Amino acid sequence: MNCEQKFEGLRSEPSTRRRVLFVDHAAVLGGAELSLLDLATAYRQTSQVLLFADGPFRERLEAAGVPVVVNLAPEAALSVRTSDRFGALKVFPALGWMAHRVATLACDFELVHANSQKAFVAAALARLIGGPPVVWHLRDILTARHFSGLNRRLAVTLANRCAARVLVNSRATGQAFVAAGGRPDLVTLVYNGLPVEVFDRLDPAQSLAIRHELGVGEAPLVGVFSRLSYWKGQHVLLEAARQLPNVHVLLVGEALFGEVEYTAQLKTLAALPELAGRVHWVGFRSDVPALMAACDIVAHTSTEPEPFGRVIVEGQLARRPVVATAAGASTELIEDGVTGCLVPPGDAQALASAIEKLLADSGAAQALAERGAAHARATFSLEALLATFDQALQSVPN
Ligand code: UDP
Repeated sequence: MNCEQKFEGLRSEPSTRRRVLFVDHAAVLGGAELSLLDLATAYRQTSQVLLFADGPFRERLEAAGVPVVVNLAPEAALSVRTSDRFGALKVFPALGWMAHRVATLACDFELVHANSQKAFVAAALARLIGGPPVVWHLRDILTARHFSGLNRRLAVTLANRCAARVLVNSRATGQAFVAAGGRPDLVTLVYNGLPVEVFDRLDPAQSLAIRHELGVGEAPLVGVFSRLSYWKGQHVLLEAARQLPNVHVLLVGEALFGEVEYTAQLKTLAALPELAGRVHWVGFRSDVPALMAACDIVAHTSTEPEPFGRVIVEGQLARRPVVATAAGASTELIEDGVTGCLVPPGDAQALASAIEKLLADSGAAQALAERGAAHARATFSLEALLATFDQALQSVPN
């Protein structure tokens, strides 16, 4: 199903939606961008997206009929890491330039929706020079692991002063914002939503064809579906697989933010003799639902608290037993032993045991998967996301 079809039913009520300038500093296809794709597609008749980089996200927005403007930001502003201690100071002139671009474009809109931290800082500065109200869609856990102290203080101070709302994608994300000094009264919980019907239309023949292509035969297949990054923990699954001699691993995703060393480390691990022929690298794919359905188990292996974890919900919607690490929002998405399994982060032994247990009792594993699917359908549909999102934006005064 393409985006056109996906939103056919939702397009009948666009006139009630607010006029929003959505802003993102990135144009890669990460979870934050895929979620914005859904929101911006629903808002495409009244709204526009401003990107500070060019890439596949811009192509996907255009294919969905969303008006997009690309203003390439100075390289320094895009490449500096949020964990860089003095990052905000290094890129201040570039942020000023971005703020000016937001303020200029935002004249035609009722409010600005900032989809990333850099976008938020630019939008908040634009607000200070007379731009429209700003909603920060916070999709990161503001901890020292990902954000330097200075960056956290800057973002939280600007949020407390300039944001009309801070939409958080999980309770874990909201709690970290408040723990960093953020005003609790600004926070509104907006869980991500996924297109449930895409998963309902999965064709078992396609899953069989995928297994055939991979050459896994009847062997158990465990998939991990994330960008390659140390904290996403793909290495933990490879370590677990060393203890499970019959299990094959499907690695889906690529490094989106230049994690060259980690990719090399994974390649070295996958080349170990005991894993020979059992690790299947397929890079970035746009058919994640079908790939998940081809697996026996979907693994989520993040070693740090996950702000949301779309892949967990996708695994549930694909009716596969999901094993996830118990940190951050995973504990909001999975009830351990009921709608999935939770294991401690970074613990290859615990992950191997959980996989072994699920493979040993396919009846119990399928029951777990069915309960996970029912929970995900009821809680994380695109309709539920849009209803909460619309309401949150409607509550922002002009
Ligand atoms: N994804 C994808 N192709 C890939 C790997 C991942 O489309 O090859 C998607 C995945 O299906 C999910 C998103 O990327 O929708 C990742 O979102 P998540 O919240 O799990 O992690 P994030 O990237 O936001 O940290």
